[in-house]
Amino acid sequence: MTDCTVLDVVTALDARYPRSWAESWDKVGLVLGEFDHPVARVLCVVDCVPETVDEALTLGADLIIAHHPLLLKPVSSIAPDTFKGRIVHRLIRAGVALYTAHTNADVANPGVSDALAARLGLTGLRPLVPAEGAAAGEGRGLGRIGELAEPLTLATLTQRCADSLPWTAAGVRAAGDPEREIRTVAVCGGAGDSFLADATRAGVDAYLCADLRHHPVSEHLAGGGPALLDVAHWASERPWLDDVAAWLRAEFPLDVVVSDLDTDPWTVHSAFVKETHP
Ligand SMILES: [Zn+2]
Repeated sequence: MTDCTVLDVVTALDARYPRSWAESWDKVGLVLGEFDHPVARVLCVVDCVPETVDEALTLGADLIIAHHPLLLKPVSSIAPDTFKGRIVHRLIRAGVALYTAHTNADVANPGVSDALAARLGLTGLRPLVPAEGAAAGEGRGLGRIGELAEPLTLATLTQRCADSLPWTAAGVRAAGDPEREIRTVAVCGGAGDSFLADATRAGVDAYLCADLRHHPVSEHLAGGGPALLDVAHWASERPWLDDVAAWLRAEFPLDVVVSDLDTDPWTVHSAFVKETHP
């Protein structure tokens, strides 16, 4: 048994990831759940989707901590025959609270990109885009820049990313000369193409993020920017769940479970065999 309540855990989460640190468009904090409901087991997920709700219910979790907001855009109905309404109904009926830490966890120190950078063995971490406003100071900001222990070619670094990040069907792809020597790397958990110019300005050798697209990448490389590594969105943010879980276990007598359910939507990846491809 535990004396923890939803309010206790939410208060601690709000202190570590203040809501004022989130982007103005973001929706973070407690999504649903009674404040006085006891919490013994927590499930940490990137996405609150039917599959991770199944996992929470099977585990008997009392609280889900999710990275992505369930209700980012305004809704006029949470009827149970809608995708998100179904989730809301299932959680409330099962007495499972839902909390979101999104861009406020991105800028935090340690935050989402610190956990990603640590997986790649980067050290000497500093923000790619230092935070301004409420979140400013103390190493906070979006993305991280760090150094590799020894220089690697882009091809070797790409393989290291594939080996050190959680498995996804999408895998890792890179843009630029495979033999390019990489010492300094910028990383950003989640979609990161809005920081391509920041990575170029920072003078890093490579920049890793998720959700990169043809035209921004082509134009970035043509402009002499760093090599790029594109990883699955879920895989780039999943490492952070370990950090949240370790902190929660240290703060509270809770059973904290990290979901390894791959919620990346891509499920199949086939590589061409260049030598035999017609
Ligand atoms: Zn994300």
